[in-house]
Amino acid sequence: MADVQEIEQMLAEALSAVESAATPQEIDDIRIRHLSRKGYITSILKSLKDLPVEKRKKIGAAANKARSALESSIKAAQERLASVKGISTLDPTLPGIASPVGALHPITTVMNRLCESFERMGFAIARGPDVETDYYNFEALNFPPDHPARDMQDTFYIEGEKVLRTHTTPVQARVLEKMKPPMKIIMPGKCYRNETISARAHCIFHQVDGFLVDEGVTMADLKGALYAFCKDFFGEDVRLKFRTSFFPFTEPSAEMDISCFLCKGKGCPLCKHYGWLEILGCGMIDPNVLALAGHDPEKYTGYAFGIGVERIAMLKYGITDIRLFYENDVRFIRQFRS
Ligand SMILES: [Zn+2]
Repeated sequence: MADVQEIEQMLAEALSAVESAATPQEIDDIRIRHLSRKGYITSILKSLKDLPVEKRKKIGAAANKARSALESSIKAAQERLASVKGISTLDPTLPGIASPVGALHPITTVMNRLCESFERMGFAIARGPDVETDYYNFEALNFPPDHPARDMQDTFYIEGEKVLRTHTTPVQARVLEKMKPPMKIIMPGKCYRNETISARAHCIFHQVDGFLVDEGVTMADLKGALYAFCKDFFGEDVRLKFRTSFFPFTEPSAEMDISCFLCKGKGCPLCKHYGWLEILGCGMIDPNVLALAGHDPEKYTGYAFGIGVERIAMLKYGITDIRLFYENDVRFIRQFRS
């Protein structure tokens, strides 16, 4: 017959087994072993009647205590497993939940691509302030005060000599002042003009300007660099056409067209059946601009170009309304996710 010590030892072992049980089945096995009709504790309680009074009291008390301790421990363990079961209904065969993925704005994508293309040719990136002084925005770029060319750019004046830059070319004036030739720089950024907002024009737009200054730089170098860029950006079979133009900071100045990349020059709605697309403005840096920055225009020459990022993005993606870029309609932006 079991004694008190044995009952206590059995209880300790059973409680620890319940504690570490991981499944309802394991708990039920312990319950059957000790508390069922033929279980260990039940058998002891059944045999109490055969014991002498003194022993019956001690064994009976120990067995009853063991039964209630084990019963409450089993109940707690069953509840614990039931609550775990609720949150661990893991089914690894279910399809996953996709996280929403963001996308770069098409302007950012095109600007990055333009910069990468020139960086591969050895151009370094320079940036300047959006709020510019009249000097860097105009005067240092050969727009003297009262020069009619200032009317070409409808300017937002802030106060005094401060303006919102109308192009990214002022960064060229700043770099020219600080560095010595050779210089090979591109300047991406935002520009602002007081334009009536329409499908073709906006008061905010982006440019990537670039320039090179060294000894003996000619228009042939400009054409070579732009041809290499266009082949990289628009495809190997692109053709270029230069038309004379005017910018105060370049002399001579040109506008460059490329053969329409959609119809290859045959004529289509994108190129308005012209076969060519206007892409950028460029020219040889005006000697006055070099002299104003302290470089000898007899010794150094340079070229400069400016690319409208919106223009390229509209052509590339077939977008017909520039306002779509700034409305931040998620349905529009989502189309450029890739
Ligand atoms: Zn075309």
